[in-house]
Amino acid sequence: MRIPLDRQSTTPLYQQIQDHLREYILSGQLLPGTRLPATRKLAQDLGVSRITVQNAYADLESEGLISSREGSGSYVMPPIQLPTTSQDDITISWPLWQQDLLDGEDQTLGIVPTLKPARTSASGLISFTGVGDPRQFPIKDFYKALQTVIRRDGVGALGYGDFDGGDPPLRQTITHVLASQGVQARPENTLITSGSQQALALVCQILLKPGDVVLVEKPTYNLALDLFRSLDLKIVGVPVGEDGMRVELLEPLLQQHHPRLLYTIPNFQNPSGVCLSGPRRRALIELADRYNLPILEDDFVGDLRYDGRALPAIKALDSGGRVIYVGTFSKMLMPGLRVGYLIADGPVFNCLVQAKQVSDLATSTLIQRTLHEYVTVGRYQIHLRRSTRLYRQRRDAMLAAIRQHLPTDVELVPPQGGLFVWLRLPENLSAMDLLPLAMEAGVEFAPGSRFFPEPAEGERFLRLNFATQTPEDIDEGVRRLGMAMEHRIAEI
Ligand code: PMP
Repeated sequence: MRIPLDRQSTTPLYQQIQDHLREYILSGQLLPGTRLPATRKLAQDLGVSRITVQNAYADLESEGLISSREGSGSYVMPPIQLPTTSQDDITISWPLWQQDLLDGEDQTLGIVPTLKPARTSASGLISFTGVGDPRQFPIKDFYKALQTVIRRDGVGALGYGDFDGGDPPLRQTITHVLASQGVQARPENTLITSGSQQALALVCQILLKPGDVVLVEKPTYNLALDLFRSLDLKIVGVPVGEDGMRVELLEPLLQQHHPRLLYTIPNFQNPSGVCLSGPRRRALIELADRYNLPILEDDFVGDLRYDGRALPAIKALDSGGRVIYVGTFSKMLMPGLRVGYLIADGPVFNCLVQAKQVSDLATSTLIQRTLHEYVTVGRYQIHLRRSTRLYRQRRDAMLAAIRQHLPTDVELVPPQGGLFVWLRLPENLSAMDLLPLAMEAGVEFAPGSRFFPEPAEGERFLRLNFATQTPEDIDEGVRRLGMAMEHRIAEI
């Protein structure tokens, strides 16, 4: 067994020894049961101190690769056989409670499984399924902000932080940002959450119980649907038109179903890209009042407007406690920050704070403070302006590519902001059937069925994200989509 050491390397000697031994063990050159040289002997042979070898052995032991027995030496351990979760592997006998989960499969949470087509031969797949463009994340500025926070706050930035709603300065900043959009929030009514997804879950936890009816736009955000399904809620869809949810259809549904919550995405809706008109926002508030209906307003990309005038948030029209407003930094910055927030007035706020605490104690203080530092020095506004400019170009590139490459009977409403274009396919064309052909041609999209309470209703729709790809890739991706459509049309 040769263990060459590089004494000029920055890798410590114990780690080099450990790396070599690991390699020998994992490659099978040192078989299970083999006794390793005594630490004193190996140290002598290698010309290092005994403690160096002992450190290497200790780490290998903590990795489960060797076992040291007092007085008897260190031995190579047999590889640990981790059971796989593959459904094909029927030889594993899971405990009964796990078997029950396996039998339920994806249905355990009531979630509609996402049918992922097998990735095909296409190299350079152009995906229109993401959210924002990760390449635009201001990583250097964010890193600077992170350094500032650690230098300034030391370990103070690594505690749980405030349990009553999140880091106060960030809550303050969020209220300033929202004030510029007409939402009168106060830090005391602002709860920082782990992404807006958690905010949605907390609201459900506080307001709803299994069997309750929730009203949603149809189509709507797929993971909100999955959340509602997982909680055994009854989901009733309200159709969406060019001006957003068709609020004029609501009253009979309210009378018939007595919903306990209405979930809406009024700005650049996911997936349809449309906005709820001003009159409809006002009508919603009026209905919420009359029918004692809480409104959950999900404003996930309200900032990303490319044309037209901003509309008041529904929360801005609410004079008292009807609307719970939810926002996120995921789309404007990075989803991995996991920072979202909710604004709620009245007794529900403290209930939500408590629900947050029992759910995950707190959202990372370090990230909250870094975000606050980043936003306060004005970088966020600069980033927002830059992203808006960039995504507007990409929206335009996608609309142009659709006009050029897709059949003329593909329908869409050009979005004034946000991330998505929502397409209605010609009759007889199903997005689910199209997807494997599109993947083969090297382009991916989100099929419409994911976004409907009754998936079959979304058969003829698909969602394209225009924010993640360059204009060139958008053109190429849509061209490939057009080819896949032609191919499919020829087949039927
Ligand atoms: N709402 C909508 C409409 C979304 O599209 C998403 C994520 N795509 C979320 C909420 C949740 O995002 P996050 O938890 O990252 O804030």
